[in-house]
Order: sequence, then C-alpha cells, then structure tokens
Amino acid sequence: MTIYAGTIVDTPGDPFADDPGEALRQDEALLVRDGVIAGRGSLAALRAAHPGEPVTRLDGGLLVPGFVDTHVHYPQIRAIGGLGLPLLDWLEQYALPEECKLADRAYARAVAAEFLDGLVAAGTTSALVFGSHFAPAMEELFTAAAQRDLNITSGLVLSDRKLPPDLLHPPETALADSADLILRWHDRGRLRYAVTPRFSLSASDEMLDACAQLLGKGVWFTSHINENLAEIATVAGLFPGSRHYLDTYARHELVTPRSVFAHNVHPDDAELALLAEHGASVAHCPTSNSALGSGLFPLRRHVEHGVHVALGSDVGAGAGLFLPKEALQAYFMQQLLGPAGLCLSPVHLLYLATRAGARALGLDDRVGDFAVGKEFDAVWLRPADYDTAGGSTLAVNLRHARDATDALARIFTLATPADVAGVWLRGVRVREVTARAGAGREPR
Ligand SMILES: [Zn+2]
Repeated sequence: MTIYAGTIVDTPGDPFADDPGEALRQDEALLVRDGVIAGRGSLAALRAAHPGEPVTRLDGGLLVPGFVDTHVHYPQIRAIGGLGLPLLDWLEQYALPEECKLADRAYARAVAAEFLDGLVAAGTTSALVFGSHFAPAMEELFTAAAQRDLNITSGLVLSDRKLPPDLLHPPETALADSADLILRWHDRGRLRYAVTPRFSLSASDEMLDACAQLLGKGVWFTSHINENLAEIATVAGLFPGSRHYLDTYARHELVTPRSVFAHNVHPDDAELALLAEHGASVAHCPTSNSALGSGLFPLRRHVEHGVHVALGSDVGAGAGLFLPKEALQAYFMQQLLGPAGLCLSPVHLLYLATRAGARALGLDDRVGDFAVGKEFDAVWLRPADYDTAGGSTLAVNLRHARDATDALARIFTLATPADVAGVWLRGVRVREVTARAGAGREPR
C-alpha cells in the first residue's frame, strides 16, 4: 500500500447538472492498494489508520485523475500541423497519405509506440482511439497498449468508397477482419473494441450494415459526424433518403449508449434529440475545429438537449495530445460564442478532461475520478521549477493561487506536457521526472 499526499482534486459530481462548486472534491491524501484507491481524506487520518505505510509526497501542483481522450487518431501522430486547409482537403493532403503508410507493419509498430508514449507523456491514461485501415496495424496498436496497461478502446477503420484505394475494403472483408480482431482483443485486460466506420461519407449502406452486425458482440462504436459544411452536403447527396447526417447511422441502429460521435459542430435539433434519446455521446475536439475552421461547437445546445459531451484531441487535425489544451480551447470557443456559449469554470474543464470522458466510454465505474474502489490512474501536474525563485510563469502563478480551483484555472491556462511530473496507471508510476524537489518518498 502507498499513501499519496498532495493537493488532490477530482470531479465526482457533474458541473453541468449540479452546482460546479459541489462537483469538485479536494483531499490531501489517497491510500492506494494493488492499484485501487482504498481510502481518501486527510493525511493525518490515513496515517493513523494505516501506520507504517509509506507516504509518497507530491508537494506543489495538483494531482488529478488521468485524462480521458475520447477522439484521437493513432495513424496521424506523425501528421500534426497541417494548417490552412478545410477538412476534406486536409484529409486528402495530410492525413490519408500518412494513413496509407500503415500498410507496412513495421512502420505501424513504430507509429503505435510513438502514439501511445505520447499519450502517457501528455497524462492521458484512457482513450477511444480511431484506428488504422489495416488489421496488422491494429494488432500492433493493441499489443503495444497491452504492454503499457493503457485503457484503450479502438478498432479497425472501415471504408468502402471515396478514399484512396489502399484504404478501401469490401464489407465482407471488413466484417471478417473486425470479427477476428474482436475475438482477439475485446475485453482483454484494459483493451476494448470499437467498430469504426471512418464516416458515412466513406461507408456505404452495406458497410454500415456490416458495422451493425458487429455491434451485437457488446463492443463500442465510434465515427465522425457534422464536422464541416462541405462534408455534410456530400453526405446528404450520398444518402438522399436520410433525414439528417445522424440518420445515416441511426437507420442501421448504430446510435446507442455505446456510441461516441466526434465533432457534431453543425447538428440540427432533431439530431440532438435523437442522440439524447439513445444515450450516445459526443466527442468535442476544439483545437481541431479551430485549425480546420470547422466551426464553433454548440455546447449549450448539447447540454440543453441532454447530450453527453466529452473532449477529444483529434490528433492529427488537433494541436497535440495534451487534453488541458483542448479544455482551454473549449473555454475560448464558448467565450467567442457570446450569449450562445456556455461560460466554463475550471471545474467544468477538469470534468470535461477526466470524468466526462470516462462516462462517455462507460469506464466511470473504474476511472475518471478518485472515488474509493476506482483504479488509481493519475497525473501530477507540477512545473519542474516550482521551487525555484522566479521560475516559469506557471510556477509563479501556482504559488500565488488562492485555492485549488484557482490553481486548476492557472494549470488549464498555462500548463504544457512539460509540466507532467508523474503519471500512474493502476497504481504503477509509468512516468517519472526525477530530480524534482518535493517528490521524495518519506521513510517508513
Ligand atoms: Zn477525427
């Protein structure tokens, strides 16, 4: 057992449903046994109840739950930064040529390692990962994720039209390859499978029907929706009988509580009502929406319709894997919407980056907050020069924060992956930056 002592904050409540002040909880110590949180409270109380247990001091900064990224593309980790293009041109010029390279299994293996190590370095411990179009590349991703004990839900990306020929597969092949991957990887350790048509623009009715057949096995579903106006118009032309974009999925019964749709920047009210009715979630990807000029996400309308929303980095269109950056951009975009926006507090931002994602992925009984009984996936955010006179702007601001909520605001505004001082996966510290003052372990 280990007692972790520091400024520990999480959002066991839902700031969109309740008073944000009530949604946040702060404690000074956690007791972790075999990777599971066994107690929380004051350091004095935990020490008294468990005398002799080692105490790991995490002084300075904040310990928060591991981040949950609900939309990120594994094959695009080498393709970040394609600025200046709208979605369909960006796909053609940046993303898809890179995705074709994952046909080479050795290439895919290297990319999988870079991608997963990037997630850990950014403090992301759980993710719904948009996979590759190639089954061997998915084997590489799942193998590497299992080795790292990351909480990964992912699947083979399916398309049978309108993409480079190398990325297309007929529905029968898609069905067979996906079924095989589900058998090998779904519910194995922390891994789960997600049926993943790229978007209905590149998936025929026959392909979407194959997807529906795969869903019977208790797996997850993810795809894209309503990202960009040209994309939406193209989809409308491809499915002349559909009521709206969501209907292209709904008529194949692909809108379920285990469905996560990325973007939804331009939904109509009927789509929001349908998402809420079926308990499906939306992955909001604000830096991607900004970089591609896709639009300003209508968060207020989602909340008012009762649609669950979490955050996604959408790398490679997004501007990196660090979820606090997405949270800050989400905040900016809501401010820019004026009265149509929702003014987000630091508590909202922590919730969106952690527990909202766990809820979207059906993992909130295991991760997303620090409740007793949950797995200890955590991130310690603390600038390396916290104790140095002067120091970085974040160090200066943290030293002058009024309270934990104020410290959260300063972290969401200023922190970068360089400020990730520690990451734990089920109680095992997988990232440790040594030679940091205040990180010592006290003697028994
Ligand atoms: Zn995406």
